Amino acid sequence: MHFERLVIAAYRLPFKFTKLKNGYKAVQNSGGLVSAILALSENFNKINNQAVNSKIVWAGTVDNLAEDSFSKKFENDFFDIIPVNIPQKLNDLYYGGFCNDLIWPLFHYFPSYSVFNNDYFKAYEDANVKFCDELVKVIKPGDFIWVHDYQLLLLPEMIRKKIPDATIGFFLHIPFPSYEIFRLLPRPWREAIINGMLGADLIGFHTHDYTQHFIKCVKRTTGFECRQNIIYTSNKLVKADAFPIGIDYEKFHSACLNKKVLNEKRKIKEHLSGQKLIFSVDRLDYSKGLLLRLKGYETFLEKFPKWHSKVVFNMVVIPSRDNIEKYKDMKMEIESMIGRINGKYSSLAWRPIIYQYKSLTFNELIALYDLSDVGLITPLRDGMNLVAKEYIACQIENKGVLILSEMAGAAAELSEALIINPADNIEMAEAIFNALEMKAVEKNTRLERMQNRISSYNVFAWSFDFFNQTHDIKEQQKIMSVRYINKIISDKIDLNYQNAVSRILFLDYDGTLVSFNKYPELATIDRNTLEIIKKLAIDSKNQIVIISGRDREFLERQFKHVNVTLVAEHGYFIKKAGENWEATITTDLLWKEAVMPILIEYVSRCNGTFIEEKTGSIAWHFRNADSDFAQLRLHELRDDLAEIIRHKTDFEILEGNKVLEVKSGKYDKGQAAISLMKDLHFDFILAAGDDKTDEFLFKAMPDLAYTIRVGLSPSLAKYNVSNFSNLLMLLKSFID
Ligand code: UDP
Repeated sequence: MHFERLVIAAYRLPFKFTKLKNGYKAVQNSGGLVSAILALSENFNKINNQAVNSKIVWAGTVDNLAEDSFSKKFENDFFDIIPVNIPQKLNDLYYGGFCNDLIWPLFHYFPSYSVFNNDYFKAYEDANVKFCDELVKVIKPGDFIWVHDYQLLLLPEMIRKKIPDATIGFFLHIPFPSYEIFRLLPRPWREAIINGMLGADLIGFHTHDYTQHFIKCVKRTTGFECRQNIIYTSNKLVKADAFPIGIDYEKFHSACLNKKVLNEKRKIKEHLSGQKLIFSVDRLDYSKGLLLRLKGYETFLEKFPKWHSKVVFNMVVIPSRDNIEKYKDMKMEIESMIGRINGKYSSLAWRPIIYQYKSLTFNELIALYDLSDVGLITPLRDGMNLVAKEYIACQIENKGVLILSEMAGAAAELSEALIINPADNIEMAEAIFNALEMKAVEKNTRLERMQNRISSYNVFAWSFDFFNQTHDIKEQQKIMSVRYINKIISDKIDLNYQNAVSRILFLDYDGTLVSFNKYPELATIDRNTLEIIKKLAIDSKNQIVIISGRDREFLERQFKHVNVTLVAEHGYFIKKAGENWEATITTDLLWKEAVMPILIEYVSRCNGTFIEEKTGSIAWHFRNADSDFAQLRLHELRDDLAEIIRHKTDFEILEGNKVLEVKSGKYDKGQAAISLMKDLHFDFILAAGDDKTDEFLFKAMPDLAYTIRVGLSPSLAKYNVSNFSNLLMLLKSFID
């Protein structure tokens, strides 16, 4: 499989539009993402060996385009540009509101700054719909659609609904918070966000931690199973993984020697007159930890007076959102703190902080990166922090030291930096001192390691990695889909059913005929399903067997007056239609006395779990417990039970869907099914089930049987259906 064209959706278009007499000219900016996308596209064209290169499609909003120009098509040599028109009022609620007053602070662990407003969410949905509407007009088969960032969390699912087999990647450029933070969102918003993201095939984050947080939120919000970063949704596999975004390393590294940068450096050096330089540059934002950084620097000045007059801190703050009260106040606080520190420590010849509130040109930035002895990058929370990587790339003489906050995503890769907690002013002060005093050989060792890493996993490697992994998950989905019952297969099964004269159908209950409920006693069969079973059972050519782990009473209640055979407790009891229950074995149940106290202990050790006692087994249900915590307890429980099993061999452990069951080992669903088929001839056999306990059933079936596992898990069954309603559709087709 290959992709033929790249389609990018990101909130803001990376283009500037200049008005000409007869329209607009679009000039692309030179950011890292744009370069990566261009390189990736070049690679697409190489792979596809295309004579005519297909242009990249890029959809996003733009500031300076007149309303009536939105419907026009814009293009340049590389891009087809799709401006998405979000009217100002909607944008204020969507971008200013939901994105920047809620998701940004919340996902950066500032819940007290988060504003929860129902109008914001509505606007967020509407804006995502606008993106979707524009995109579906241009998406073609073979496209690789890559959706970016927190402004478009709902978009993957929206596109998926319109184009079910689309290839969609999603990348989040900010942190994904822990469940404790995420759960502050109202439930419908949480669900919309998780389901929105799960519309993608591959979901990328900057770090392993963010990926794990996301997976935990998926489990808690949807109950889907996740194994090794693969999420088994109700209809497809989705992969979540870490792709730490890189920079265009060569561009930064080589820029240090360009003439204009050398000129800038000369000017800065003149001003420094031999003083050491500490440098930081960030957008004005509370996540960047600017006040705490000043506090750390002040502590350094206080603790290490020998450095007075020998060092200056150049703090550059890039203007951002300063028309908003919170940002205005923060700016004032920063400026007053700088004033206070400078007032306290300055002399006629020395000012400890040089503050600039402005954007830098590329050359100025490179010169400052290159010249500074210390890069002081201390955000309180940052998805990645590219400045840290750019600083490392610009150390051509290997004389700088990076001090980096452990809260920046970049810290996961840049472990040779001096890693500090930004809230610990003493640690920061000592790190500044250590950085200034560090021996050349140590600086060199640390820098070289970081440079090796970020020069190889650069922004191009990042985008290729993302592309390749999207390809891989699509392949895995394809392998899985061969097993899906599609129209052709279901028609074939139906034809065989219709032609057969003697049929037996084994149907598991929970997860196969009914969906799961928090409380097992409430998972009763619904009327439509029962009607289908009844109609199947009336046919004299059919023997319908409900084969379940449930106890006898429950099954009898559900299938009262229906002409079916019931198998209870995984095959311990069988009741043929119109007959009484019979035990299939005689077994010693003394082991229950040893096992019950252990399970009771685990109920108290894992909140939300409960015990169900049946005649021949005891089940520990953990559907309602925290899934990760329950997994931990499950491991421990298995160990504890193994201790007893070693001495007693007449019982075994069975693991079903969010349940561990201890039962006598002498029967299972497979053996029960075999006993029901003994000495009889069937020319149509079907067995359907949804969990591990049904694997015994599948294993026992003869070759001619249609074995079907409900859900996406790997199985001995020949086929999978994605959920129980698909199985019901198949059963219904038999009687229609
Ligand atoms: N940068 C900029 N203008 C400047 C100074 C820096 O555009 O005057 C760039 C810098 O090179 C870096 C980006 O802004 O690529 C900041 O990215 P980072 O991940 O550090 O923080 P963000 O602003 O995305 O939160």
